[in-house]
Amino acid sequence: MDMQTGLHGQAILTINAGSSSIKFSLFLVPQLNQIIAGQIDGIGGEVRFKVKLASKSTEETIAWPSASRPQNHREALSFLIDWLHQFAKDIEVVAVGHRVVHGGQKYSAPTLISDEVMEELDALMILAPLHEPHNLAGIRAAQESFGGIPQIACFDTAFHRTHSFVDDCYAIPRYFYEKGVCRYGFHGLSYEYISDRLLQMYPKEALKKVIIAHLGNGASMTALNNGHSIASTMGFSSLDGLPMGTRCGEIDPGVLLYMMQHEGMDAGQIAQILYQESGLKGLSGGLSNDMRTLEESDLPEAKEAIDYYVKEVKREIGALTALMAGLDVVVFTGGIGENSAAIRGRILREMAWIGIDLDEDRNLNGEVNISSDASRVLCLKIHTDEERIIARHTLELSNNTTVKNKASNV
Ligand code: ADP
Repeated sequence: MDMQTGLHGQAILTINAGSSSIKFSLFLVPQLNQIIAGQIDGIGGEVRFKVKLASKSTEETIAWPSASRPQNHREALSFLIDWLHQFAKDIEVVAVGHRVVHGGQKYSAPTLISDEVMEELDALMILAPLHEPHNLAGIRAAQESFGGIPQIACFDTAFHRTHSFVDDCYAIPRYFYEKGVCRYGFHGLSYEYISDRLLQMYPKEALKKVIIAHLGNGASMTALNNGHSIASTMGFSSLDGLPMGTRCGEIDPGVLLYMMQHEGMDAGQIAQILYQESGLKGLSGGLSNDMRTLEESDLPEAKEAIDYYVKEVKREIGALTALMAGLDVVVFTGGIGENSAAIRGRILREMAWIGIDLDEDRNLNGEVNISSDASRVLCLKIHTDEERIIARHTLELSNNTTVKNKASNV
């Protein structure tokens, strides 16, 4: 890739560290123009590094120097930062924003990371053992590489902290709630972005009864009343609710007891099945977790996996509508929600009874408004952008920090 990018100025780096990948973006301040987005995946194995410049339409794969295959997030991030220093050498990173999956009951807003915050986040690791350790490894690596610049944690659970006790509890002995066993809800950064866009595009409708369906590899739906989340299909963990690429979605806890008592499985084996081998992949007989592959397949198992998926989305739209006592807007987002006209079409056609009138052409053309002008429920398809929400919060909080630091130096 051409090293002469001509990019210069101050920027915010966003980091989304998953189990074996790090997604990153650079946004110029203060306008937050996104100049670079990319991803390192396969950390610990066959590493790939892909970068997309805002000025070019195609994604490019960058070769690793063969001697330095990163074995962990710290090594991957340090490679990324060296690469950024060379590639965009006139860009000064002034703050780093991190996606953190779990903020527990305490964190209801983005937070400037300090030693005390890191201690508290470490303690939350037991609540999200498959995600949080990677998020925190990303933060530590960025702290080492960037020294004293502000690092901001943006939580996927924060958006749902407006729920009432009844919306968040489980009907098990109350002391479990005190220990943090409750519904948290996830995908909050995506919901926040979509609800902001909705407010800009449809200010009146945005404050009515809204369901946002985030249908990606992970999937959940959230009900918003007056712009606030009142319920979500994901609960204590990111397993609950809708079936996903490889995660099971809602399941009778009796099934887990059966796996333990009659199949002799331990917690690790059950976690492997529920997180990695279930959902679309499990139901399609192992064919694929990718909706595109299932849509193209003639196998009856693939068709049944899609049927189950559509059934669960419809069921949850019904349940969330009941909680809000009505429905005015449905928004689809995420890889499946944004790209599969067939899945959107099926769900909306089969939900006509609720006041939805799908416009087939608008849906097939991928327009934002996919319902007819006569539809009582407005149906939309909006691209989500979690990185932008992280960048926005990071800019706000790091500005406040700079102002405070300046004030305390006076
Ligand atoms: P993540 O939850 O990992 O961010 P995405 O939101 O990118 O994932 O969604 C990824 C999923 O989107 C893929 O697994 C695939 O099933 C689905 N997808 C992407 N493009 C299409 C398409 N054109 N048709 C159907 N499904 C698609």
